Amino acid sequence: MDTLLEVKNLQTYFFMAEGVAKAVDSATFSIQRGQVLGVVGESGCGKSVTARSIMRMVRPPGHTVDGEILYTQTDEAGQSAPVDLLQLPATGPEMRSIRGGEIAMIFQEPRASLSPVHRIGDQITENILLHQDVSPSEAKEIAIEMLQQVNIPLADQRMNAYAHQLSGGMCQRVMIAMALSCHPSLLIADEPTTALDVTTEAQILELMQALQANLNMAIMFITHDLGIIADMADEVTVMYLGRVVERGSASDIFRDPKHPYTTALLESLPRMDQKREWLQTIRGVVPDPYSPLNGCPFHPRCAHFMPGICNEIVPQPINLEDGREVRCLLYTEHAV
Ligand code: SF4
Repeated sequence: MDTLLEVKNLQTYFFMAEGVAKAVDSATFSIQRGQVLGVVGESGCGKSVTARSIMRMVRPPGHTVDGEILYTQTDEAGQSAPVDLLQLPATGPEMRSIRGGEIAMIFQEPRASLSPVHRIGDQITENILLHQDVSPSEAKEIAIEMLQQVNIPLADQRMNAYAHQLSGGMCQRVMIAMALSCHPSLLIADEPTTALDVTTEAQILELMQALQANLNMAIMFITHDLGIIADMADEVTVMYLGRVVERGSASDIFRDPKHPYTTALLESLPRMDQKREWLQTIRGVVPDPYSPLNGCPFHPRCAHFMPGICNEIVPQPINLEDGREVRCLLYTEHAV
């Protein structure tokens, strides 16, 4: 195993007038070099805050209060050593060099992520000049090459375009080109296709898969869409209310989900052989983060709820024999 990023016991809380929202609550997972990790869960389960915590981009009233984010850095001599990103000042030179250089991120709304008043070519070259020791003309050449790699036609002419002159799909390609222009070891993709139509979504996913294979880059792919994860991911981390409730290989999780929340997510997927008229939904909603529940936070929605147990005892992560980790009392001595 060649671990690129190891997140341990990550806790990011939002301190609001209403109370403390534990957006990420003791999340632990890892990403191997060159691997695609799918992070799934409904909206409000802490996926995006986890990504922003890794990038050290959480803004007040949010704070990462504990944990470790061990990123394996490789120096010019090829020596690798883990550095805890939480120990680096968020706006200091080391973190600025890692953010956007070694770890890049693309967002859900590409047009909103690009500056409306700067040409896209200038935005890409600025990022290259910030992270690479090249001249402005070399940076421009790299930028054109990256736009070509993400299949933008007439790339040298598009360098002069503004975001509002491009379609949503084109803007996302530009964001990917910008993210990949410094050859990151890890790309964090936060719902990168949610704002796109299905045809453009398929093109962007195909492009990301091809680039990931060519560049041997790891991807942390955040989505609520398990269909995408089935196509893309090697490993899956399922999050619910800020906690990792199940993690394991994508094949194991799709074949035999262990946590009732994972099962419910999979059952809500449309299937080709399904004759039912209505799609299955997960009953209830994600609970209010300001009013924490006793016991397992999934218990009001769980099909396997055990009264007097699930609403009393907080499940801890359990390692199963097949290398999977699950946070559910069904796998403890409490199960009857
Ligand atoms: Fe369901 Fe209980 Fe497991 Fe929570 S601990 S997921 S309520 S069975």
